[in-house]
Amino acid sequence: MKIICRVLISAALTASLLMSLSIPGFADDRAKHIGDGIAALPLFDAHVHYKEPAWQPYPPSTVLQLMDKSGVTMALVSSTPDEGTIKLWEYAPNRVVPELRPYHGQAGSSNWTTAPGMIDYLMQRLTDYPHEGIGEFHLHGVDPANEILLRKIAELAVSKNIFLHVHSGKEPVDLLFSLEPGLKIIWAHAGMSEPAHVVEAMMAAYKTLYADTSFREGDILTSQGTIDPAWRRVLERFSDRFMVGSDTWVNEQWEGYGKIMAVNRKWLSQFSRPIAEKIAFKNAERLFGRSIEIGLIGQR
Ligand SMILES: [Zn+2]
Repeated sequence: MKIICRVLISAALTASLLMSLSIPGFADDRAKHIGDGIAALPLFDAHVHYKEPAWQPYPPSTVLQLMDKSGVTMALVSSTPDEGTIKLWEYAPNRVVPELRPYHGQAGSSNWTTAPGMIDYLMQRLTDYPHEGIGEFHLHGVDPANEILLRKIAELAVSKNIFLHVHSGKEPVDLLFSLEPGLKIIWAHAGMSEPAHVVEAMMAAYKTLYADTSFREGDILTSQGTIDPAWRRVLERFSDRFMVGSDTWVNEQWEGYGKIMAVNRKWLSQFSRPIAEKIAFKNAERLFGRSIEIGLIGQR
């Protein structure tokens, strides 16, 4: 009986050894992952909106509590209208990097490029407040009718050395860089529906293209909870250019904020410590010139 047990155990060990050998690097990579160490890292949330419907149910103090509970030390915030961003930034200036969203009044995601007075509105808000980006805004495609406005916005961003935060597929990003090669662009949702190989090609093509991974958690993580190989490749190759994000575009996202950030920690835990740290907060530190430490939790 003992012998049979031993044989079975050694067979099981051999099988697991063969399995680890048959998946190149599997055992080694796992040992190098940050794993549970991810829990202690501060997070920078690069895709927060504080839209008007959230103001009453989620006052700034509540938003900060939600960030605190998830270890989110700082957030890049843009809102419809911009007053939401300013409310949050005035309440917690050390926790908020403000970004100017064009949407206000009748101007929303589908018609903002043709809204009268848009460039004047943007210039005035940028004069009044220390926004560090223009966005997040949507470009549903390349429309020649938008080119004059987009060129002005691109020039404005470069002259102020601030980011554009763009929700679009590949083509509008190509257009923006062709209008103004000196741009710094944060690609919202890493292209939203663009596959990993397209994101990789874009990152290779444009040295000042960055991305937030909000809404891509389900692409990065496989149904088994491991990292999709194509996403691992792009995230590791361009680990200096990605940040995580929650995208609180509706109140349900605030409702589920803890879970969203936990999923982000889950996928980050499967990367090496240096890469996890960069994507969690160090890239944001570099891009926005902030010091992001866990000690910011509970402060504002
Ligand atoms: Zn968004």
